Amino acid sequence: MAPLALCAAASHAQCTRVSAGISRRSVQPARLFSSRVAHKAGRRAVLVAAEAQGSVIEAGDKTIIVESDGTIIIGSPEAVARAQANSDNEEAAPESAETDYLAGRANAVQKHFEGSLGADDFMQRVEMALFAFGFTGDNSIAMVNLCRDEVTLTLKHRIEDVFGSAFSTNGLGGALTCGVTGMGAGFSHSPLCSSNKERYVFFSFPHISINASGEVGPMSRPGRPGQSCACGALIKATNEIKSEGLTCNCKIPGVHDAVDPEMSILKQRIARRLRHEGHNDDSVKDLTLVDVTKVAERTISDDLEFLISKTVNTDKADYAVITGVQIHNWAKDFEDASPNMEFVAPTSAYVVVNGVKTHIDLTAMPPMTPRQMRLVAGPADVCNQGGQTMLREEEAPYAFDSKDARRSQKARLQRYLSLMKEEGLDASGSNSTPVWQSKITTTTPARCATADNSVIIDSSFNTDPELSKIREQLEEKYRVAQ
Ligand SMILES: [Zn+2]
Repeated sequence: MAPLALCAAASHAQCTRVSAGISRRSVQPARLFSSRVAHKAGRRAVLVAAEAQGSVIEAGDKTIIVESDGTIIIGSPEAVARAQANSDNEEAAPESAETDYLAGRANAVQKHFEGSLGADDFMQRVEMALFAFGFTGDNSIAMVNLCRDEVTLTLKHRIEDVFGSAFSTNGLGGALTCGVTGMGAGFSHSPLCSSNKERYVFFSFPHISINASGEVGPMSRPGRPGQSCACGALIKATNEIKSEGLTCNCKIPGVHDAVDPEMSILKQRIARRLRHEGHNDDSVKDLTLVDVTKVAERTISDDLEFLISKTVNTDKADYAVITGVQIHNWAKDFEDASPNMEFVAPTSAYVVVNGVKTHIDLTAMPPMTPRQMRLVAGPADVCNQGGQTMLREEEAPYAFDSKDARRSQKARLQRYLSLMKEEGLDASGSNSTPVWQSKITTTTPARCATADNSVIIDSSFNTDPELSKIREQLEEKYRVAQ
């Protein structure tokens, strides 16, 4: 008699299932262990001893069935029948199941952002289109404007794969605050080709999370239990504009909060844009995060156009502008099995070569074939040819935080834990403070003792009569009609 490891099924199923490599008609006494369902949550492993003799065994009020693939089902006759039906369904899963699942995920994104493309698909179209107008990674500099959020690196990495190290003009929520100096700095780093021409490729995208369940806003992050969100800055701006109304958030152009410069600039620009588009204190109450993200995209893209008009000299430079919204379609729980995916909803794509502007229709270009997709994505790809787009499983912005890396790290820790017990090791006492720490924290440097930060310096201007007068004049000029 050999020990048989069984995995007790969930209580509602009232039966037990075991998978092993044995045939239905000739079941030999064997050491069996569950593999197919042992990992499923809510199931409890129990050890029993059994000697299976055939494919169907009656044991009191229980029935035991050994299926052709070696799965053993134990339970009441009704529960066994249900389990067998489920088993048949599992085996009948069509080959299109993966494509259907991914198409469902893509549809949930399309519902809010029509025309969205998988991020790899998007980037290969951009690369090919820009190449046709003379832009390559060797002769261009990418000017990338995204939110500061670390998850936006998923798009930045793709851009840098094509165009090399990018000049970043990132701001909270994607607010463009680098000004003409920031733009000029990036331009001056552009490679020069033989024609002595500079080439800039502008990418600008606010971002949003639409998770695997189609929820807008919530986002899972590696190493952080529970729900996070994206874009935090745009969610904050949305909530505040909705609760405080539009008027008080419009502010005087050019004025910002010294302790919260980027957020205050982002929020008031969105508020003024909303007012410009006809919203009022009442109508903003109905805005969704998707609405505000689209407004932010229009605001930021127009700010970029304005800065380009102030800075780019088309006699000495060609440039391209690619704008849209970056969409994170990640697992609802970062640790679960569903893939994280990235989408982009393009809003404009054009080039200006020798001063002539040409608009590009990215959707007119074909997607990659599955083979090309595998070349781009490496072995862990998830392809979807059901729609117009190609998708791939997305690792977190840092490879060491990928799902697979975290799972193998957990397994390693479990192994060490059991080794500790086996070997009877004791780790206590190893956490004492090393002596070198006390050497670097003995005194406060003179520089840190003085309180002369920018906020304190700025506050001295509050009482300046000349500045007060200018402020009054500005407030009068930009006062919103009640
Ligand atoms: Zn953000």
